Amino acid sequence: ELSRRTYGFVGADLAALTREAALEAVRRIMPRIDLNKDAIPTEILDALSVEAKDFDNALKRVQPSAMREVMVEVPHISWDDVGGLDEARDKLREGVELPLKHPEAFRRLGIRPAKGFLLYGPPGTGKTLLAKAAARESEANFIATKSSDLLSKWYGESEQQIARLFARARQVAPTVIFIDEIDSLVPARGGGLGEPQVTERVVNTILSEMDGMEELNNVVLIGASNRPNLIDPALLRPGRFDELIYVGTPDTAGRRRILAIHTKDMPLAKNVDLESLAQRTERFTGADLEDLVRRAGLTALRRGLDSDLVTMADFEAALKETRASVTEEMLNDYAEIQRTLKSDA
Ligand code: ADP
Repeated sequence: ELSRRTYGFVGADLAALTREAALEAVRRIMPRIDLNKDAIPTEILDALSVEAKDFDNALKRVQPSAMREVMVEVPHISWDDVGGLDEARDKLREGVELPLKHPEAFRRLGIRPAKGFLLYGPPGTGKTLLAKAAARESEANFIATKSSDLLSKWYGESEQQIARLFARARQVAPTVIFIDEIDSLVPARGGGLGEPQVTERVVNTILSEMDGMEELNNVVLIGASNRPNLIDPALLRPGRFDELIYVGTPDTAGRRRILAIHTKDMPLAKNVDLESLAQRTERFTGADLEDLVRRAGLTALRRGLDSDLVTMADFEAALKETRASVTEEMLNDYAEIQRTLKSDA
């Protein structure tokens, strides 16, 4: 099994992996040992037996040289850091967190967990944030990438990159893979930026990786897109992207919550009325609101370097400098796209 899980490892990587597994075993027995300073007592060395779980942990630490570009992280974003978007959060909780944390419950009932989720909507609404929170709250590793990093002009290189991405995800499972701008990676045939033949091969690679994702193998794919109508419909079928989740601009209550999140560490004057700001920021995205808060802080700073409170006047000034990045027309377009995706599903 280890040979299978070390796809892409060269000899030196395997040597490093074995060494790291042995060190993991030492740390398991002596949790407080500082391996940079302390010598390992001989009686520990004599009794040391390296177990499967030591290799599991070592696999997370040793980065194979051919996969340096695939970065594994554990995000620090939690559900509390995401404002509004309750429906999207609930779907991800059920679809990502439950199966990754309790695979046995799904197995018992014979339910196939979803393999893929597509988050779509205007930029800056929290799609990346949701994916990170889903990973962290599932206690899973997170591998984030975007289409432009996967696409290469060299023959066969894009397909290899994708294969490496999925292989690495399996090695460090449970894993959430996040692919941003997924529409340009897998555009409907005939569309997209790449050469048509390249696109065709990339689409097929992704399809076969997703079809090959064994049920309950603890890897979930989350794709994000601002233009889901450009995605190859073959990917939007059950067993591939099982759930299509619209991530739109927040309502008043959502905006109020997002403003609270982003002013959490800001000393606010008593007169700062987040409710009133929420009411006056229609169509603002989470990113727009974050920008508004930052500008209010800068305005306070401009009043004097010794300012220690951000006031409502600072927010009013910031409000004059900012506006919603999403237009009424864009929202209408997304409503139309939502209808089409629903009826095709
Ligand atoms: P997207 O992936 O949809 O383009 P991001 O998740 O990258 O958007 O959002 C960019 C930044 O805007 C986030 O890092 C966060 O600071 C802020 N933001 C966006 N949406 C929200 C939200 N719903 N709640 C809190 N902050 C948000």
